[in-house]
Amino acid sequence: MRKDELIAELVSRVAGEIGAILYSLGIKNEFTDDQLALELGIEISEIRKALFAMYEIGLAEYRRKKDDETGWMEYYWKINYDKARIVLKRELEKTKRNLERKLENETKMIYYICPNMCVKLSYDDAIANNFSCPKCGSMLQYLDRSEAVEKIKEEIETIEKLLASL
Ligand SMILES: [Zn+2]
Repeated sequence: MRKDELIAELVSRVAGEIGAILYSLGIKNEFTDDQLALELGIEISEIRKALFAMYEIGLAEYRRKKDDETGWMEYYWKINYDKARIVLKRELEKTKRNLERKLENETKMIYYICPNMCVKLSYDDAIANNFSCPKCGSMLQYLDRSEAVEKIKEEIETIEKLLASL
């Protein structure tokens, strides 16, 4: 996937469809949300919501200024296109850390299940029950999580490749 596509995907995941639209407009200068709402015919609350979501991950910034005529607070926004790479990198690293944690849990946890689906026991509990089901007496089976582990490893690898390509 190209960097642009990755950023577009990130923006729409974080800030929804409206965020994706706003980001794709490529406005380099400051703008107010009410002005943009008027131009695009989108509710100002929707635009603000998307912009604040982008702000949360550092893709947008704003300053507030009181309008002299109306006395209302105006939000002057700017989309940080120049920070896109850094933001993307940080988000990918965050996802990677989550996956690594998940992987650790998967490899740490050893379960035994009853073939009749009565129970799922930890290794210690399985030992305590002599590897037989406490409900039906069947021999407990080792729950193989290697498929799930492989899948997580693949995801981590994909993210590492993406990070290296940035
Ligand atoms: Zn059983």
